[in-house]
Amino acid sequence: MQGFIFEFMEKYDYENLFLCQEQSLGLKAIIAIHDTTLGPAAGGTRMWTYDSENEAIKDALRLARGMTYKYAASGANLGGGKCVVIGDPKRDKTEAMFRALGRFIHRLNGLYLTGEDVGTTLREMEIMRMETPYVLTLPQAWGGAGDIAPATAFGVLQAMRACLKEVFGSDSLQGRKVAVQGAGAVGKNAIKQLVEAGAIVTIADIDKEKVASLAAQYGVSVASPEEIHRLDVEVFCPCALGAGLNDQTLDELRCKIVCGSANNQLAEDKHGDLIDVRGILYAPDYIANAGGTLFDTDRIDPGGFNQTRAMDKVSRIYETMEKLLGICKDQKIPTYKAADILAEQRIASMRHAKSLVTAGTVRM
Ligand code: NAD
Repeated sequence: MQGFIFEFMEKYDYENLFLCQEQSLGLKAIIAIHDTTLGPAAGGTRMWTYDSENEAIKDALRLARGMTYKYAASGANLGGGKCVVIGDPKRDKTEAMFRALGRFIHRLNGLYLTGEDVGTTLREMEIMRMETPYVLTLPQAWGGAGDIAPATAFGVLQAMRACLKEVFGSDSLQGRKVAVQGAGAVGKNAIKQLVEAGAIVTIADIDKEKVASLAAQYGVSVASPEEIHRLDVEVFCPCALGAGLNDQTLDELRCKIVCGSANNQLAEDKHGDLIDVRGILYAPDYIANAGGTLFDTDRIDPGGFNQTRAMDKVSRIYETMEKLLGICKDQKIPTYKAADILAEQRIASMRHAKSLVTAGTVRM
């Protein structure tokens, strides 16, 4: 294990790793900063019972790098970071622990912006906000963007339209058959927007009540959770949990496009290759589901939050998807690989742009 930290940081070009501890409060936290070329490093605070410190450090580093790619590819002006708190989120959370963590984050002076993640909720964000303004995800009453699911769903539809254009030559959803898996926060908004756009929608959720009420509200068809991915539709839209594209489901798909909000849709990278071989266009999850993040982070741009500008950014997911498809064609690679290249290209070109010396700043 000796030397793994710097070796790992060198390998993937990390900038910083901060360890924070306050014994009296039981706080042990790690803040990893991967790349700040595009802006301050952002990423949620995860609280988890790690088996070892090394495992927690590795997780913070790995997740921070993931955020760099996610923000870069989606067009956000943010770098990648992550905070990991070692502990049981059900047992060990205290107000003082998160006040202290807020103070540690404040010391970084805006280098790292935090938000919710596994094991933390908006409540912890409110507590940290008492100590630092560098908390991105907050309830609306605290100056946050509020419910981001409608924007996430809107972004999914933009990616879907770009995919339809690629496959069928038209980006219209009118009369297109779409199967939505998961009718939660994002799914229900996607269902509404798809129906409004004229799509023929079938939905499934393990929660039967949700499905029944949405079917009544929008007049959509219902399928069982076991069969939704197998339907003969143009688009399969996964809005439930991750790893939905796996050894079992991949052979069963009968759609032409997979485009949804679920995170980590590919169980393994190989499924990104296999879906490509099957001739199904897969919209990489972190491109298709970036709408909520783009909406949520708009308030760090000049002038603070602006609804019109925020939704404009979300609508550009269409162009991002087009660019990505261009890379796939040029380099003859599957979409999930092109997403990484898109991110790397944007970081490299911004690094170059930012290396130029500005002679002065004119305030307009
Ligand atoms: P949610 O918990 O509100 O909804 C998920 C829904 O999926 C629930 O209704 C649940 O019953 C259903 N579900 C679970 N397993 C299922 C199965 N096997 N078959 C059918 N339905 C199933 O979550 P959400 O906020 O709507 O997020 C959905 C996905 O999108 C998640 O993977 C999330 O990480 C991702 N995502 C969400 C946002 C956002 O703005 N909320 C942003 C980016 C990514």
